Amino acid sequence: MSGSRRDPAFLIAGGGIAGLAAALALARKGFASHVLEREDEFGEVGAGIQIGPNAFRMFKVLGLTEAIDATCVYPDALVMMDALNGDLVTRIPLNTNAFRNVFDSPYAVIYRPDLHAALMQACKAESAVTLETGARVTGFEDSGGRVRVALEDGRTLAGAALIGADGLWSKVRETVVGDGKPRVSGHIAYRAVLRAPEVPESLRRDTVILWAGPKTHLVHYPLHKSDIFNLVAVFHSDRYEEGWNVFGDVAELRSRFSGQRPEVHAMLDKIESWRMWVLCDREPVKVWHKGRAVLTGDAAHPMLQYLAQGACMAMEDGVCLASKIAAADGDLEAAFRAFTASRYLRAGRVQLTARLYGDVYHAAGVAAELRAMMLGGRAPEQAYQGVRWLYAGLDDDGNQVF
Ligand SMILES: Cc1cc2nc3c(=O)[nH]c(=O)nc-3n(C[C@H](O)[C@H](O)[C@H](O)COP(=O)(O)OP(=O)(O)OC[C@H]3O[C@@H](n4cnc5c(N)ncnc54)[C@H](O)[C@@H]3O)c2cc1C
Repeated sequence: MSGSRRDPAFLIAGGGIAGLAAALALARKGFASHVLEREDEFGEVGAGIQIGPNAFRMFKVLGLTEAIDATCVYPDALVMMDALNGDLVTRIPLNTNAFRNVFDSPYAVIYRPDLHAALMQACKAESAVTLETGARVTGFEDSGGRVRVALEDGRTLAGAALIGADGLWSKVRETVVGDGKPRVSGHIAYRAVLRAPEVPESLRRDTVILWAGPKTHLVHYPLHKSDIFNLVAVFHSDRYEEGWNVFGDVAELRSRFSGQRPEVHAMLDKIESWRMWVLCDREPVKVWHKGRAVLTGDAAHPMLQYLAQGACMAMEDGVCLASKIAAADGDLEAAFRAFTASRYLRAGRVQLTARLYGDVYHAAGVAAELRAMMLGGRAPEQAYQGVRWLYAGLDDDGNQVF
């Protein structure tokens, strides 16, 4: 199976973070790609995202560090508060000398559209990347030396291979893995942004603060050089089967957080209009490719957001995939095999660890007391060592190194 650098191009289903990261990483290695986005415009939902040091290493490889630095906020700490009694559970300092000694890169929060725009601008500056909207991929066929991708408008495009970066409900995955619908977790996220002057003064800090309560949590942090704040409120509910980016029920949200600290309600009460997500993930799988098709990002390894890593993993995927394609001397099947082999355990570990973090955030009773005891006594260095595999354990080609 061969794939030359320019002709034909790789076809990429999906112009989210995974799709653009893959397109850019391929271009940096000299490979052409054509990104097919089903929506009429490229873009990201107007909310925040945390980006760990592992993603910063990928930004460096892709030449995006300056663009990200221009719009992100570098918080001073990750803080967990008990949402019932207001006690500090743990505080992990970020971006200190000790932090940088272990991770060698910063921790930041960024407005999603800014991250997407940085990727988009870099892609547009590359002649090897072409971008198309209103192009929904409905299927594909492997015809030996080419992949033929079917679009909803009836066209068929030929490419060197298909990269399925089409997210949680991936169409490409149906053929590559065929494991049915994602797993509905029973956890719902409500998201909103608040202008900084509306945030109570005591909470208007450059800190990622998580209020952990029984079967709920609220996270808030500043964005856009701290002039807006991102809010994510999560609670358990079996009321919703599927739902994404639709308006949430404010009364239900408030009742789920009843009995919690006034600081929590001071934030929740400021917002009348929330967007709702039904949170889903999947069991990890070890095969992400079939013939001339391969998956990246949420299409390959959708995860709950409790480790704040889905987009970071998508960045890593793009860099790793391009590096394996460049090393495979035209043998794309070997490249996809090497890519998956290098990534599935790391991504699987994040998928499964994220579920555990959700249990810790949402603990009640004795479990919450144990949480306070176990996390409260830790020195920052112990906390850093606990996530070293995640934030530092990657080489410049996106391979796990320890
Ligand atoms: C509440 C919440 C908070 C989060 N917080 C963080 C965080 O702090 N840090 C972090 O790293 N991650 C976080 N994540 C995860 C992160 O948002 C995702 O992992 C990431 O956006 C996945 O990117 P993607 O490009 O793989 O998928 P998507 O963002 O879903 O992009 C897929 C793209 O493909 C397009 N598409 C879909 N189907 C087709 C088709 N058939 N044909 C063509 N185009 C198609 C879609 O329109 C979309 O543009 C969070 C997620 C949630 C829900």
